[in-house]
Amino acid sequence: MYIVMLGAPGSGKGTAAKMLAKKTNLPHISTGDMFREQIKKETELGKLANSYMSKGELVPDEVTINIVRDRLSWEDTKNGVILDGFPRTKMQAEVLDEILAEKGKKVDVVPEIIIPDQVIVDRILNRATCSNKDCGAIYNLKYKPSKTPGVCDVCGAELVVRTDDNEETIKNRLETYRKNVEELLSFYKEKGVLLSIAPEDPTADNASEQVVEKILEKCEE
Ligand code: ADP
Ligand code: ZN
Repeated sequence: MYIVMLGAPGSGKGTAAKMLAKKTNLPHISTGDMFREQIKKETELGKLANSYMSKGELVPDEVTINIVRDRLSWEDTKNGVILDGFPRTKMQAEVLDEILAEKGKKVDVVPEIIIPDQVIVDRILNRATCSNKDCGAIYNLKYKPSKTPGVCDVCGAELVVRTDDNEETIKNRLETYRKNVEELLSFYKEKGVLLSIAPEDPTADNASEQVVEKILEKCEE
């Protein structure tokens, strides 16, 4: 199964992608996480990516496509992947199709998570993530805090707040998302793989579980 997760920043796309990866045993590939790792390691690629990410702008297509092309050449991607944050432009979507076609594969399901703006901003401004990249649990300081403040319930590592999770950058990220997502939605709708999901109560504890259930149902069809 090759799954492409769509959803605004703060839509819960990352949380759902991680849960889905665990349930399906497929690798979770998040371009945002890959860039953040490069930033942490202070590589040239990290510096370049950060100059865009800190402003809430997209990293250029060539750069992003290169890292994804490389990641998709790994052996562990042969049965499928959960892509989170890629593709973000039609150009990226077209290249993804080409990369998969070379493997004799295609994008199977594209879940789009729909969440009201109000909830999104509230979520992002209260978001904290586990610093252990093998865990990556996501918390919300308001709705879903960890038991001990600043410490991950799952693995005990420190929780960190993403530097691009601030009010100024969020506005830009949301705008960028809206501007680009339309062409992605029509691209995948035309292929008949789009699955729009609007959780009844996006602030419910089990909102992400519900999203994941819907995706798994679709995968079994
Ligand atoms: P969010 O969905 O909350 O914005 P991500 O972790 O997916 O979080 O992305 C964080 C940032 O990384 C984006 O704002 C963008 O600058 C960069 N980025 C991630 N994926 C891509 C991509 N496919 N193309 C271009 N830039 C990307
Ligand atoms: Zn953790």
